[in-house]
Amino acid sequence: MKTTHAALAEKFIADEPRTDWHDETLWFVREKRDKAAHGLPEWEQLREWGSQIKNHTLSNLYNYLKEFEEKAVANGIKVHWAADGDEHNKIIHEIIRKHNIQKIVKSKSMLTEECHLNEYLQEHGIEVVDTDLGERIVQFRKEPPSHIVLPAIHLKKEDVSATFHEHLGTEKGNNDPQYLTEAARQHLRDKFVQSQLAITGVNFAVAETGGFVVCTNEGNADMGAHTAPVHIACMGFEKIIPKAEHLSVFLRLLARSATGQPITTYSSHFHKPRPNQEMHIVLVDNGRSRQLGREDFRNSLKCIRCAACFNTCPVYRRSGGHSYHTAVAGPIGSILNPNLDMKANADLPFASTLCGSCTNVCPVKINIHEQLWKWRQVIAAEGYVATSKKIGMKGMDFLLSKPKVYRFAGKMGRWMIRIVPFVVNNKLNVWYKQREMPEPPKESFRDWYLKNGKTNKK
Ligand code: SF4
Repeated sequence: MKTTHAALAEKFIADEPRTDWHDETLWFVREKRDKAAHGLPEWEQLREWGSQIKNHTLSNLYNYLKEFEEKAVANGIKVHWAADGDEHNKIIHEIIRKHNIQKIVKSKSMLTEECHLNEYLQEHGIEVVDTDLGERIVQFRKEPPSHIVLPAIHLKKEDVSATFHEHLGTEKGNNDPQYLTEAARQHLRDKFVQSQLAITGVNFAVAETGGFVVCTNEGNADMGAHTAPVHIACMGFEKIIPKAEHLSVFLRLLARSATGQPITTYSSHFHKPRPNQEMHIVLVDNGRSRQLGREDFRNSLKCIRCAACFNTCPVYRRSGGHSYHTAVAGPIGSILNPNLDMKANADLPFASTLCGSCTNVCPVKINIHEQLWKWRQVIAAEGYVATSKKIGMKGMDFLLSKPKVYRFAGKMGRWMIRIVPFVVNNKLNVWYKQREMPEPPKESFRDWYLKNGKTNKK
């Protein structure tokens, strides 16, 4: 297994003020989402529709994807199919090679992160400029995004200032967001003007029209696609929806759930290449068929990547996106990633309190916390649980299934914390590392109840 979520989270929380700030910032976004959702009387109806449309689409995926392909080809778009990330990268590389292209801009696409497109192209001597502001910041820092909607949310303006000073030559120590944004704007404008190829993601692809929609708040996808002579859109095949009218459900759900906005600033519809432009769309499987075949997890493919489950998750907010060591972090990432590589991502479903807050906010009603719990069972059955956890669970099983042993252990525990506290309060006890042990009560609740319960009833 790679470095685990727990170990990476420990690094993140070592900086306590940053952890608090990260937690509060994401909670602020969650509150904005609540306000926007509560301001819409039909919110629950929209969630229900969103969920049902996605369920229906997943049950008829083949037909809708085929319909989309036919319509898109008729519109003049070149459609490609990629079985996995490697094939996706090769298809894009081949288009770049064919046109002998050097300058590429890319707007935010979690799929290209999932497929490690930037690294692949870099290995082949091709540089891609990420044009989403947050993504450009993390790209300068050679970091992956830490959040699917707010890629640089783990950074403060002081960090951005230092990064821009190093890469864009901005004034040292100038943390003014207006100044920094203007510097990024000038820098990116040059890249847009010079670009020969633009790569975008896809938020929704519409089967009945063969068109697709890309949502951004910065207009960077449009800037790239409207200036470059070649546009490649990359899409996980679960992004398909049957009809254009369904956008009225999903666009309203997406913007409110992601940032609390009534609508994303730019929701751009692409249907065909403009004159003298070439337009491609790459439809990617990369494990999605396998997930579709897992009955307990198939509806995770309903996800519209709004990140509401990230913003509400107490574990994500206090451990940071990088601790999930995968492209898509947070609760939904912890369901999707074990499907991609169960052994390497076996720790992720355990990075949750199972409080169910993710499920409550999900705009397409994915039962996220139940799937996390299910993954734990699958991972344990497959033998990917750490030995320490296995021994611990066996111990708990023994203790909790034998009342006499449990009562005796309780008595011993209370006695030890009182008389020999160092046996419990030591560095080997991971629980103690972050906490003060409470004063032990003189007796257990059971003992107290046996003595006082009847008296109190009267
Ligand atoms: S699982 Fe639901 S809440 Fe989380 S990103 Fe996907 S759609 Fe949004």
